[in-house]
Amino acid sequence: MSDKPEKFIDENGLRLDGRRVDEIRPMTVEMGVLSRADGSCYLEWGNNKVLAAVYGPRELHPRRLQRPSEALVRYRYNMAAFSVEDRIRPGPSRRSTEISKVSGEAFEPVVMKQFYPGAVIDVFAEVLQADAGTRTAAINAATLALVDAGIPMKGLVASCAVGKVDGQLVLDLNKPEDNYGDADLPIAMTEDGEITLLQMDGNLTADEIAKGIEMARKGCEQIFAIQKEALLSKFGTTDEEELLKE
Ligand code: ADP
Repeated sequence: MSDKPEKFIDENGLRLDGRRVDEIRPMTVEMGVLSRADGSCYLEWGNNKVLAAVYGPRELHPRRLQRPSEALVRYRYNMAAFSVEDRIRPGPSRRSTEISKVSGEAFEPVVMKQFYPGAVIDVFAEVLQADAGTRTAAINAATLALVDAGIPMKGLVASCAVGKVDGQLVLDLNKPEDNYGDADLPIAMTEDGEITLLQMDGNLTADEIAKGIEMARKGCEQIFAIQKEALLSKFGTTDEEELLKE
């Protein structure tokens, strides 16, 4: 039996969790939560709970994998066995391998890899509790963990999804919207607005995709503000040169 809701948006324009169509779920972040990692961040977004840890830059072994002119950035997304209602089989899956690949690439234009030839920067994103939008939550946490590790970056990366329910575009899908909605369009972007991740499930028209991207842009602006607030409270500045002096 399907537990698909009859309606996702009520007559007042409110979604099942009380949000408007262009509102993201409440997000809290805490940096520097792991003492053994070079950088870390714990993020809660709605009912998602994600921990990101960064190790490096450190020498890459085996050495044959080293890149002579830049660091290698490795990103591993993983869902804990206990993160969903039914236990997830531990270890990589097709889904987690794909998410790891595209999420690592979402940082491509910002991480200044040229400073660390032969090194590796490992980013681990562990989903402790999953409730739709975990790949986007993981990217938001990983950005702050990279900054916390002192990795030189040209700017931050933020990520959120747009979807479609009841014929309307909605920002930052919750679980029923993700499960039963008509589309899911996760997006990541830099502060300059360069899109670094764009995936799509379901059906959207070209016009809806264009509108959805603009909606995601507004969502990412809210996330950048949350990330910068966390940086300010930890380092007292968001100025890159000041941060690199730490
Ligand atoms: P995302 O978490 O980035 O939205 P998906 O759209 O693939 O990625 O998944 C949506 C949601 O479905 C997840 O957040 C999680 O709550 C749930 N989910 C994903 N994979 C599994 C799984 N193997 N078992 C149970 N639930 C899952």
